[in-house]
Order: sequence, then C-alpha cells, then structure tokens
Amino acid sequence: SALLSLHDVWVEYGDKIVLERVSLDIAARSFVSVVGPSGAGKSTFLRLILGQEAPTRGEVLLDGKPLRRECDADRGVVFQRYSVFPHLTALQNVMFGRECEQAPVTGRLFGSRRRAAIAEAEAMLEAVGLEHSRHVYPAQMSGGMQQRLAIAQALIKHPRILLLDEPFGALDPGIRLDMHALVTRLWRERGLTIVMVTHDIREAFKLSTRVLAFDKRRHDPHAPHRFGSTAT
Ligand code: ADP
Ligand code: ADP
Repeated sequence: SALLSLHDVWVEYGDKIVLERVSLDIAARSFVSVVGPSGAGKSTFLRLILGQEAPTRGEVLLDGKPLRRECDADRGVVFQRYSVFPHLTALQNVMFGRECEQAPVTGRLFGSRRRAAIAEAEAMLEAVGLEHSRHVYPAQMSGGMQQRLAIAQALIKHPRILLLDEPFGALDPGIRLDMHALVTRLWRERGLTIVMVTHDIREAFKLSTRVLAFDKRRHDPHAPHRFGSTAT
C-alpha cells in the first residue's frame, strides 16, 4: 500500500506550470530516485513531500491523509550542502535533529533523559561511522563526513521517509561509493522509504527500486507534462 500518494498534483508559479497532473504512489520501504534536467521540477517535488510547498491543485497524501506542513517526525531531509550547523559539533548537530527546527538546541532535557538522548545520538553517529568525531565541528570535516553527519541528523527522529536532494553531488567518486554503501545499509536496516533527487542516472539505477524521470514542460500549453516511471 502507498505511504505517499500524489493525486493530480499541479504546481504553478504565476503563468509557469512546473508540475502538471502528477499522480503517483510511493510504496513503503521503496527507494525512489528522481532524475531529470535542471528546472524539471525535482526540487519542487521534494518540497511537496516535505510539506514546504502546497500544490496549486491536487493533493499530497501521507498514509492516506493530507500531508501536514509543520515539523514532522515522519520525514528527514539531507541536501547537497549546508544541511548541518557550522557552529555545532557533530554530537550537538545530531541532538538538534531530535527537535523541530524551531526548538532551542539546549536546555530541554535534564538528568537521565538527557543522558539517554546523548547515548542515542552517539549511537546514531556510530551508525554513520562518525563515532570518533563527536566533538568535531563541520568545518574540520571532509565533505563525505559532513554528509554522514547530515544523514545522522536526519535519522535521529526515526523518520519513515528520508528525502535526499543530490546528497552526493559534491563528493568525489570514491567517497560517493562509500556513501552508496552507507545509504543502502541504512535503508535496509531501518525499513526506510527513500526519495532521492540525483543528476546521476547510473546512481539512480544502482541504488533505487524505482526511477522517476522528470522532464521540462514543453511550451505548448496543451502538452502533458512528460513524466515517466521505471521499476529497476
Ligand atoms: P538545480 O536543479 O541545479 O538543483 P535549483 O533547483 O536550485 O537548481 O533551481 C533550478 C532553477 O530554478 C534555477 O534556474 C533557479 O534559478 C530556479 N529557481 C529556484 N528557486 C527559485 C525561486 N524561488 N524563484 C525563481 N526561480 C527559482
Ligand atoms: P529542478 O529541481 O528539477 O531543477 P525546480 O523544482 O527547482 O527544478 O524548479 C522547476 C521550475 O520551477 C524552474 O523553472 C524554476 O525556475 C521554477 N521555480 C521553482 N521554484 C520557484 C518559485 N518559488 N518561484 C518561481 N519559480 C520557481
């Protein structure tokens, strides 16, 4: 059964139609990649699933219910860059991920609850291979380590859905292979549903169970949005 469903979704900015009549279901525990040229609407699609953007028409459903906009433990997100906070250590970044974006970083938990939260954050750092970097700041980390940290921050809430927006686009090829192994393992172990935007079609077919191809809309206003889906 579908975890996420889009029904006849349109996104328009003024006269510009970015997504047109998009209907699709995303099954729980699937790993969906979204490919397509710049400007095809991939980021818009992710923002819809994140609840950061409302469709102009149509609906986005999570478990059959309209997706809510507010901070939601069901979804974690990692961007190509700048997902983590430069002024916080690795451990503090993961601790921050427990809270909603608006919540204060510190001063919430005390005593045994605080110790349990720290232990959980340390276990999360270990799960992404950063157990020796808990007191390190992002500026002292490589790009790959920063993305590992971003993944830990996104997963500390135990979200069911992990959204990845070109997460490996800025990394060297060798590091990218390590990240592929990490994400594949986390996906399997944690029963995650992953939606990943990537420019790399080989990466999409390698990692995912399904590839969605978005294309730019033609200028003919009557042409349908070109949109394809392939099981891998
Ligand atoms: P990429 O596909 O390379 O990740 P983006 O998704 O950031 O790039 O943006 C794609 C295109 O959309 C760019 O041409 C950018 O200028 C344009 N764009 C992004 N956000 C906005 C916005 N808020 N208003 C207008 N244009 C935007
Ligand atoms: P992609 O991620 O595939 O590059 P985007 O979803 O970023 O594509 O953008 C799709 C189109 O929507 C682009 O042409 C972009 O200019 C436009 N766009 C995105 N966000 C906005 C916005 N907030 N206001 C106006 N246009 C936007």
